[in-house]
Order: sequence, then structure tokens, then C-alpha cells
Amino acid sequence: MQLAVIGTGYVGLVAGAGFADFGNDVACVDVDEGKIARLLRGEVPIYEPGLDTLIAKNTKAGRLSFSTDVAGAIRNAEVVFIAVGTPSAADGSADLSAVYAVAETIGKNMNGFKVVATKSTVPVGTADQVEAIISRHTTQPFGVASNPEFLKEGDAINDFMKPDRVVIGSNNTRALEVLRSLYDPFVRTSDRIHAMGARSAELTKYASNALLATRISFMNDLALLAEKLGADIDRVRKAVGADPRIGPKFLFPGPGFGGSCFPKDISALIHTARVMGHDLELVRAVEEVNKRQKHVLGSKVLHHFDGALAGRVIGVWGLAFKPQTDDIRESPALTLIEDLLAAGATVRAHDPQAMDNVRPLFGDRVTFVDTMYAAAEGADGLALVTEWHEYRRPDFHRIKRLMRTPSLFDGRNIWDPEELRSIGFWYTGIGRG
Ligand code: NAD
Repeated sequence: MQLAVIGTGYVGLVAGAGFADFGNDVACVDVDEGKIARLLRGEVPIYEPGLDTLIAKNTKAGRLSFSTDVAGAIRNAEVVFIAVGTPSAADGSADLSAVYAVAETIGKNMNGFKVVATKSTVPVGTADQVEAIISRHTTQPFGVASNPEFLKEGDAINDFMKPDRVVIGSNNTRALEVLRSLYDPFVRTSDRIHAMGARSAELTKYASNALLATRISFMNDLALLAEKLGADIDRVRKAVGADPRIGPKFLFPGPGFGGSCFPKDISALIHTARVMGHDLELVRAVEEVNKRQKHVLGSKVLHHFDGALAGRVIGVWGLAFKPQTDDIRESPALTLIEDLLAAGATVRAHDPQAMDNVRPLFGDRVTFVDTMYAAAEGADGLALVTEWHEYRRPDFHRIKRLMRTPSLFDGRNIWDPEELRSIGFWYTGIGRG
């Protein structure tokens, strides 16, 4: 099939390369000229494991191309995917200006039947708006569909190529059939394709993210209680997750969730509900707990040093909102660093992939170091925010020699408190007694 993918971010690039790998002819387009120039030079503007190889393979095979010619890509395509950003607006709603701008361009470039599928996460009712905008410019037939994306950054290729489920929402039978045949090769059994109305598909994406975020905030809230009660949340987590009705995933307490999806999607869902006269109390609590949780690590550091960090050096391991990505949007590490700086600390930060993205936010207020051990040099405390593999089993004896005062703040509960205490560290995790 001839496909156009509009927006070459985390979703657009993975989807474009993934569709091309299954033999489709894909034009990936973006208004960001710098990004397209890099892609044309063979550079991949984001860090996502395996993406560079997939892009190189399919570009070489002539199935994947990049350009800023959005109109041209639309005219050539049978299916147009909208994969542009939908960030939070000031009132917490989703800013749909990029989606609507793309719909205008599609309307103006209609030259035969096309399926217009929205991969961006958009509030319920957006498919109707997209349809109305396109209709204003054309009498050509088209079908609008909601096709929310469920990939996880860091494991995006795997998620896209072997999806747990594909959600296709449309009230247009032809659009449903076209998308079904496009996705058939990606799913081993056809019951993985969930066809429904557009509104249900749009809501499915928000429901999924809100439920995952609820599990995290629930455990974070409980972790703080566990600390007060002298219980170990890690033991609790494992035993609770052993119940198959609950399951072990997404029960890990930590420094609060970040990323480009959960915070903004929860906020947009709350906003949608409010507009409809419904108060999503539970989801509002999930958001509030998360806002509070993002300050927990900073508070622990401050408390440990009796409320004053002037003259203290704190090392920070991990800046990306999760491992295996360079995405720093809403990362809890940014909140921690702001809290540390506000309390007068000197911050030495390290991340295997995300430092270039964080540098412009802090400039010379933070020292960025090239090796993880350099972050511990002369430090009074070392805070772990993102659980990159290389931080899991570091040489703690070396770290202890490097630090001025050996105190560890384990934001992901990945280290063994007893082992560390036996080496001579002061240790705290999240909710560990
Ligand atoms: P991103 O910010 O990485 O990329 C968006 C791209 O769209 C940018 O390159 C931008 O230049 C481009 N763009 C903006 N306006 C445009 C226009 N008018 N025409 C053409 N291109 C335009 O965003 P992302 O992380 O890929 O997310 C895209 C959407 O997918 C969002 O709605 C997001 O919520 C959703 N989503 C993201 C993920 C994820 O893990 N990142 C997962 C599932 C769903």
C-alpha cells in the first residue's frame, strides 16, 4: 500500500519504518526541516533501539522516504496517518492545532478515496472534527479512522511489529477494511484487531494510559505509607503481583511517572470529563499523587542533609523519563534537579543518551559528566532516577572511594540495601521500611 505518515517523531518514525518493513511504500513527512535533513543524511534524530537499522534497511530497499512535502505525500497515499504531537494546552486539554492543520492539508490535497487514520493520542470527538475539516475542502470520498498507538518508547519496534492489540475505530466500513488488511500481517491472530467506533477507539487509548498510571500512583502512595509503617513495599509489590487477577507489571514504586504520554493524557482525559460535566475523581487523584511523588527524591536528599544543600554535591544518575530512550519530557529527573538547585546543591548529572536534550534546560547550572562514575566524584549523595542497565550493578566500592560522603538515594529500588550498608553506604529507597 502507498502510505503517508505525517509527523516523524517517536511514533511516526517507528510506524513508518515498521509499515515499510512489511512491504508497504511509505513517505514520512514533517514540517521540521532540520529533522528531515538529518533523516535524509541517514541520521536518526531520536534514540530508539533498533530504529536506525530498520530505517536504513527500508530506505535502502526504496520503500521508505523522507521529505517536507506533506501535500505531495498525501496526494500519493491511499492511507494517510496523522502522527503529529498533541501536547498539553495551558488549561490541561490536548492542543490539537497540529492535527487540525494536517486535516486542512489533507482536505486541500484530496485526489481520490483515502483513509485518514489518526495515530496521535486525541480526545474523543477528534475524528468527527477531522472529518468536518476535510469535508470543507473536498467532495472526494474518504474515511476517517482512529488508530491509537500503544508502543512503548525503548521497546517501540517490538511493540509495533508484534502488537498486543491493534485498535481501529471508524464508522466507515471501507476504512475499517483497508486498515484491517494493512495490519493483518502484524498480528498472529485476527482477534488482536479490535474494530469499533471512532469514539470508543479514542477513549480506549486514554483508558489504557489512565489505568497504567493509576497502578503506578497507587503503589507510590502506598510506598510512602509503607515507609511510615516500617513495611518494605518491594516485598509487598511482589506478593501482591503474584495474584493473577492483579499481575506483576506496572506496580513499581519510583520517583513519579513522566514521559510524553501519561501526564498529558491524564490531564486531557480529566479535561474532557470536566467539559462533559463529569468529575473523574480517581484520575485526578492519580495526577495529584504523581505531582507530589516527583518531589519525593528531592525531599529525601534535603531531609538527609538537615534541610540545607549549600556546599553539597549531589550526583544524579538517569535523566530520561525511562531507560532505553533519550526522551526527557516530564522526566522526574528534571523536577529533582530543580529541587536540588533551589536548595543550593551542586549537581553532577549523567545519562547514557539524554544529556544533550537536558543540557539546554539547565546550561551551566548543572555539570554534565561523560561517565557514570564521574557523577559520584566528590559527591555527598548519589540519586538514581532512571534504571538504565549500567546503573544496576555498578562497582560500589569504587563509588564509595569517589564520594565525599557515601549516601545513596535509590529512586527505583534496584539496589540491595543490606549489601550497600555492609559496604558502608547510607541508603534509602522508595517505601523500603
Ligand atoms: P513527537 O513530538 O516526537 O513528534 C511529533 C512530530 O510531528 C514532530 O516531528 C513535529 O515536527 C511534527 N509535526 C508537528 N506539526 C506538524 C504538521 N503540521 N505537519 C507535519 N508534521 C508536524 O511526538 P510523538 O512522541 O511521536 O507523539 C506523537 C503522538 O503520538 C502524540 O499524540 C502522542 O501522544 C502519541 N503517542 C506517543 C507515544 C510515545 O511513546 N511517544 C506512544 C503512543 C502515542
